[in-house]
Amino acid sequence: MATLLISEVGPRDGLQSITTVMPTAAKHRWIAALAAAGVPEIEVGSFVPAKLLPQMADIQQVVAQALTLPGLRVAALAPNFRGAQAAFEAGVHKLTLPVSVTEAHSLANVRKTHAQMADEVRNVVALRNERYPHIALEAGLSVAFGCTLAGAVSDDETLRMATTMAALGVDEVGLSDTSGYAEPVQVRRLFTRLQAELGDRAGGAHFHNTRGQGLANVVAALEAGVTTFDASQGGIGGCPYAPGASGNIVTEDLVWMLQAMGHRTGIDLPALLQARTLLREGLPDEPLYGHVPDAGLPKGFVATGEVAR
Ligand code: ZN
Repeated sequence: MATLLISEVGPRDGLQSITTVMPTAAKHRWIAALAAAGVPEIEVGSFVPAKLLPQMADIQQVVAQALTLPGLRVAALAPNFRGAQAAFEAGVHKLTLPVSVTEAHSLANVRKTHAQMADEVRNVVALRNERYPHIALEAGLSVAFGCTLAGAVSDDETLRMATTMAALGVDEVGLSDTSGYAEPVQVRRLFTRLQAELGDRAGGAHFHNTRGQGLANVVAALEAGVTTFDASQGGIGGCPYAPGASGNIVTEDLVWMLQAMGHRTGIDLPALLQARTLLREGLPDEPLYGHVPDAGLPKGFVATGEVAR
């Protein structure tokens, strides 16, 4: 069975949506522990102005420190050309551009119309192609399964935005359930179409657990052939412009489920659970979630994670 790629997004999606600012040194200790547990890719933060998101004010240092961790693919998010330029200069391995499927969410989240965002993506692709051809570029489609502002989102709307982004030249297009509206039948249907229409540019799944459907949606996406999944340790995360949308799917629970199902993730689950203590040290007063961390590993559980480095 092919190895699935788990991308830890807690240091970005998680930390940006809670008001507590994790100290830079604590971020580094946590990220290093995640990498040591075999997490292959970590989205370490966002390139946004510090006055908008003080939680991300240290992004340059966080990226620089993450780049010293052997074998780790360092990812970041940037909502516009200026942020992307800074991310490229910082030397990230992968950059994700958040692109909203609905214009209402786009205006609230990045303060741009669809046309303005398309221009931004076009300029980022041009810069990447010209000066940073080794850096991977993903469009992450926000509110791909429904929008707290605009309501229901049709499959056609999401697929139209996906094909637009692929045509603009990003390497892959992922689907994000920013609002926690997705259900498994919809997930299987949308990812099946995404792969049919985009081929190898079809990207991964980013689910929030707002309505408790996160892992069910992962199974549906697996059935559609998805191999990349975002998750956040302790389930921290959300979106300030998607009210009530708190919590990415919990990395610990995701890895346990995938390993129990016989999938390979390359992640050492006991070491991943250890990394949670570093998250706790960095955020002593924030709630952390996760069933596996609460209940412990089942008796006789055999870890299948093989840390390759
Ligand atoms: Zn998210």
